[in-house]
Amino acid sequence: MWFNQYFLPSDLHQALQLLEKYGTGARLIAGGTDLILALEEKKIPPVEVVVDITRIADLQKISITNDRVEIGTCVTLANLIRSETIQQSVPLLVDAARQVAGPQVRNLATLGGNVANASPAADMVPALLAYDARVRIAQRDGELRNVRLDHFLKGYRQVDLAPGEIVYSFYIDVP
Ligand SMILES: Cc1cc2nc3c(=O)[nH]c(=O)nc-3n(C[C@H](O)[C@H](O)[C@H](O)COP(=O)(O)OP(=O)(O)OC[C@H]3O[C@@H](n4cnc5c(N)ncnc54)[C@H](O)[C@@H]3O)c2cc1C
Repeated sequence: MWFNQYFLPSDLHQALQLLEKYGTGARLIAGGTDLILALEEKKIPPVEVVVDITRIADLQKISITNDRVEIGTCVTLANLIRSETIQQSVPLLVDAARQVAGPQVRNLATLGGNVANASPAADMVPALLAYDARVRIAQRDGELRNVRLDHFLKGYRQVDLAPGEIVYSFYIDVP
């Protein structure tokens, strides 16, 4: 068994509370296209609890205000490709998302999962870096902090996320 308990919170506050409660025994899951494979192939040890964040509406949004595009972490690559806002304002993301796997994987795979995994093979990262994207992170107390993507990515499979934090969104100033 890869995990003992599965939670599907409907808001960010619940998700943060679950991470707080289960600590290092908890792991976030979005599309699961990286995580489930890693568990199945025993590349990572089994986890006690998984917290699925794909039902949190705030994490699914794509918005544009004052020439700044914000993309929720749980926007799937398929929805990114379909979005007129993305096509018109940051089209390189559409090109990059089209390079990822096939339609079945893109229907599940999220932008946040691609970045948080910190794989050198992640296809969305170069495009986000080219746009000088910022990462918005929900902290344990629910407050948001912002960090440049090139600072967020600290090395192979290493990101600037403290225990209990969740990648909330990415934002880009439209060139
Ligand atoms: C057949 C196949 C082909 C693939 N081909 C490609 C490819 O061509 N290019 C490519 O780049 N990738 C590819 N991938 C990898 C994968 O599909 C992508 O990296 C995908 O975007 C991961 O997103 P996810 O939502 O599935 O992540 P998940 O598997 O749900 O999560 C990945 C990691 O990120 C963490 N995480 C997820 N969301 C958050 C968050 N909001 N905050 C903090 N941590 C979070 C999870 O805990 C986990 O450690 C492929 C995968 C498969 C199975």
